[in-house]
Amino acid sequence: MLELLKSKILVSDGAIGTELLKLSSEKNPEILNLKKPSLVEKLHIDYINAGADIITTNSFGANPVRIKDINIYELAKASAQIARKAKIDNKFIFGSVGPTGLKPTDKEFKNIDAYFSEQICGLNDGGVDAILIETMIFVEEMKAAYRVARTETKLPIAVSMSFHLTKNGFQTYGGADLKTSVKEMLNLGAEIIGANCGNGFAEMTTLAEKLKSIISETFIIIKPSAGTPKRINDKLIYPDTPNSISKFVEKLISLGVNIIGGCCGTTPEHIKVIRKLVDKTIQSEKAWAQ
Ligand SMILES: [Zn+2]
Repeated sequence: MLELLKSKILVSDGAIGTELLKLSSEKNPEILNLKKPSLVEKLHIDYINAGADIITTNSFGANPVRIKDINIYELAKASAQIARKAKIDNKFIFGSVGPTGLKPTDKEFKNIDAYFSEQICGLNDGGVDAILIETMIFVEEMKAAYRVARTETKLPIAVSMSFHLTKNGFQTYGGADLKTSVKEMLNLGAEIIGANCGNGFAEMTTLAEKLKSIISETFIIIKPSAGTPKRINDKLIYPDTPNSISKFVEKLISLGVNIIGGCCGTTPEHIKVIRKLVDKTIQSEKAWAQ
């Protein structure tokens, strides 16, 4: 996969959690790996059919802080096995590792390595192709997840933090500024670094420009959310519709972002748009070369 990224933009899938929560009343969508694996598998297939090169396991919140009284290793392993079932040739599975919800100042934070270990070992043993540490807002937690992934697996690792624009520039929701966060991500030596979720495609495109100005060697992943949702008639409505994201996706492509996908609120329809625009770039590059 890393070899492929040198010459190709890979399209990632969109949201897993928000899509599954449309179909189920489970508080934690990860539980569906055990209760209704066919629902999760169908979502992976929908994303593959939409043109995703990368599918992401339903394991974002599979950790002992968010989900109690369940074997987290088995839950995470199941998420990887479901993705493997859905996967076809030339596609890749990223094992999702989200934040635990603990703050570095919490007493329980001292257990963080053990918590991530259960999840990451499950993903590894279930057969993922890479570990995706995503939506991180604390540098300390991101580093802990990375440390565990590097020690417990031989897989490539992507680290992605979640930023929003403040009057002091881009910061994570935990208050870490962009430059410090990127420096920490680069220092780790992760194969892929980037940003996900945030405040929708427009703001994430501005962020991607900043990342490109700081990062030169490492592959970059960008997965924007579909914006901040409004609740209308008990439904969450996201402002960034598939029709509205084209110009931002075009910009992400022209910036040289290596992996483009979506986060909360994005759907297979958003991924179809990204696929089409990435293919269009490949076509025009070919025409140029002839
Ligand atoms: Zn998100």
